[in-house]
Amino acid sequence: MPPEGRVTRFAPSPTGPLHLGHAYAAFVSRARAGAGRFLLRIEDIDQSRCRAQFEAQIYDDLRWLGLTWPEPVMRQSTRLSAYRAALERLATLGVLYPCGCTRADIRAALSAPQENAPPHGPDGLVYPGSCRGRSMAMARPYDAVRLNMRAALSRVGALSFLETGPLHAPTQTVDADWMADQVGDVVLSRRDMGTSYHLSVVVDDAAQGITEVTRGDDLFEASFIHVLLQALLELPRPSYHYHKLIRDQAGKRLAKRDDARAIAQFRKDGATPQDIRLMLGL
Ligand code: GLU
Repeated sequence: MPPEGRVTRFAPSPTGPLHLGHAYAAFVSRARAGAGRFLLRIEDIDQSRCRAQFEAQIYDDLRWLGLTWPEPVMRQSTRLSAYRAALERLATLGVLYPCGCTRADIRAALSAPQENAPPHGPDGLVYPGSCRGRSMAMARPYDAVRLNMRAALSRVGALSFLETGPLHAPTQTVDADWMADQVGDVVLSRRDMGTSYHLSVVVDDAAQGITEVTRGDDLFEASFIHVLLQALLELPRPSYHYHKLIRDQAGKRLAKRDDARAIAQFRKDGATPQDIRLMLGL
């Protein structure tokens, strides 16, 4: 990849103020773009949690940090038809089914006596498959849509991807048994959104021509799901670059509610962008 051909993105959700962890993620993404393009994407599919004031603050804080990006910015809330088209394509492959289970239903199905603790993977409790026998023709308006993981895996060959970050081996291979047992039938369309994090990210990374996905290590396992979706949808596969998470003094991962670590608060207290870089070890 010639350096000027690189495309990276920073993709925050406007559900709270940007904090030091976001600033680090944005700087890593900018640095990986090098002579190429650094894009900003607003991940606002969860309209119940996103706020216009947080989105405005994201733009303001990032500009203050010295970052620039091409306009217009992609906002996921305007992309629902693209996600619907991707879902329809997956449906024609026979790898989707509608699911009406609530969290309580799933917990109840998993609490049946069994030797081991219920499997818990990167997407939470592994879905026990209660609705797997249903077809998309049986979908009701309030159903979520799940990926039949075994059926999906059987449609694609061996999958691997390139990891360029410092934390993992450079070649990562998708382990089908781990995917089926530990990840399971993930939700691709939530009943209240018509899409999901996994589906939207995959569709948008392809639409924006992202060549290297940079993100915090908490999302490492999600890339295995994303690589599978790319294969099913015949989308190009970017490389991945996972970076460390910024933690507070107690070693706890920063969360959106940690307002004390919000960039806006540091600005109010008179910090400069250079101070922020130093705090991040950059
Ligand atoms: N929107 C996600 C977040 O705020 C990151 C998206 C991604 O890198 O896939 O954590």
